Amino acid sequence: MKVIVCKNYEEMSKKAADIIKKQIKKKPDSILGLATGSTPVGTYECLVKMYNDGELDFEKITTFNLDEYYPISHDSDQSYHYFMNENLFKYVNINKSRIHIPDGETEDPNAECERYEEMVKESGGVDIQILGIGRNGHIGFNEPDLSLNAKTHLTSLTEDTIEANSRFFDNEDEVPKHALTMGMSTILSSKKIILLANGSSKHKAISQLLTSDITTDNPSTLLKVHPDVTLICDYEAYSDMRIGVDIGGMSVKIGVVDDNEIIDRASVEINKGMTADDITKKIAAVCKGLKKKYQIASIGIGTPGTISDGKIFAANLPFKNYPLAETLEKKLGMPVRVENDANCAALGEFVAGAGKEYNSIVLVTLGTGIGSGIVIDGKIYSGRGAAGEAGHMCVEMDGLDCPCGRKGCWEQYASAAALIRQTKEAAAKNPDSLLAEIVNSETVTGKTLFKALNKNCPVAEDVFDKFVSYIAAGIISLVNILDTEQVLLAGGLSNEGERILKPLLEKIAPINCVSIAQLKSDAGVIGAAAL
Ligand code: PGA
Repeated sequence: MKVIVCKNYEEMSKKAADIIKKQIKKKPDSILGLATGSTPVGTYECLVKMYNDGELDFEKITTFNLDEYYPISHDSDQSYHYFMNENLFKYVNINKSRIHIPDGETEDPNAECERYEEMVKESGGVDIQILGIGRNGHIGFNEPDLSLNAKTHLTSLTEDTIEANSRFFDNEDEVPKHALTMGMSTILSSKKIILLANGSSKHKAISQLLTSDITTDNPSTLLKVHPDVTLICDYEAYSDMRIGVDIGGMSVKIGVVDDNEIIDRASVEINKGMTADDITKKIAAVCKGLKKKYQIASIGIGTPGTISDGKIFAANLPFKNYPLAETLEKKLGMPVRVENDANCAALGEFVAGAGKEYNSIVLVTLGTGIGSGIVIDGKIYSGRGAAGEAGHMCVEMDGLDCPCGRKGCWEQYASAAALIRQTKEAAAKNPDSLLAEIVNSETVTGKTLFKALNKNCPVAEDVFDKFVSYIAAGIISLVNILDTEQVLLAGGLSNEGERILKPLLEKIAPINCVSIAQLKSDAGVIGAAAL
């Protein structure tokens, strides 16, 4: 089986249409086997365009459709007669007498199937058959079963197919429970077969097709006996392994993520003096290597800064309105998405960490600054590109200067950098305290205060109490504005766990929806991969 993996649905549709065009050019009276469903719609659009542009002529073309619901009237909006007319036939110069679709109005479905089978045979056989694939691997309406029918037959739809196709009906009860479909040998008698698949819902069926032996549990695997099958699919259908890239100030973490777990890791160092192109080149080189080793579906990138119109602006990196996703897509030929790193971390916790149980979360990263990411109903909320800058919400009117240009921002009071400053100030004011003794004996970090707390230093306790009050002030505002199901605390300070959480919960009561994030520094990579 030849496999063509495309960047997206449009590319898949164009490739399929090009193959059909070649066939029609070679043999103007070709017999086309056609499919319905959402998958081939784009291919039909391309064919209509080719016809309008004078590149294709359907006058001598004969068509056989794979299947039709039973019973269903030809005029019904959901019938495949209607579908084919609306998506292809009414736009091209096809001779109506050469269109064949199983008759969903027949009173004798078995006789209709025999008639249809005979017609396909008499035509000399389909030259090129277009196929979609069901989530369960069905081809036409040949559903997974202990044995499969060879010839055109009346069949029952599985619950999975009824559920999948209910999107075309008002409700599930309206989906016909039966269909008339070409059998597997009818399909396999085509001279050439093109199987189309797009979207992650088809990944399981496609991965079985590519990796498992022939089995009636997945009817598409029977295509393996045919000598001329081309699978054209997008990356989402081809694989669910993704690369997550988490760009930091000094290095870039890269991971291959399978089922929300990092299965391989790499990194790229960022040196001062590197340009945006230099960094991009290095990331591309690593991703290229990983792409060779794994079946990668897409790449997601988390970066500091804001993203607008796909361009990154990051204060501490050389990305100044830089189109990173576009540049990497060109270099790697696969879909690349970019998001703010705090949003990626939030998405990571949402899909695989402490946010897994919830529909909406805010992740607050208490690090050198304060970052936050908002996920609502499974989607990152980024406003017009810069939402979630919780670190810059004002908690003190006319407060401390912030590099953002304003005063009194939350991160000036409740970040690790703020804690270090508060620790130093308290030590200077209380030179005889235990805190001062520790401060004078080491380089002050976010952990220094906790050392003094371990020794019950009252000055340290006072600093810590005020510090937690500032964290509380921001959390209360976030909950009041967003009312997400959970607020997760991440970043270096969250490593203190209960020591921070317990007094914080006391201060924000009755709000109790705050907990500690789980994925630590992996959240960004996992979240980026999940973009
Ligand atoms: P779809 O259906 O193209 O609507 O996904 C394909 C199929 O069920 O065969």
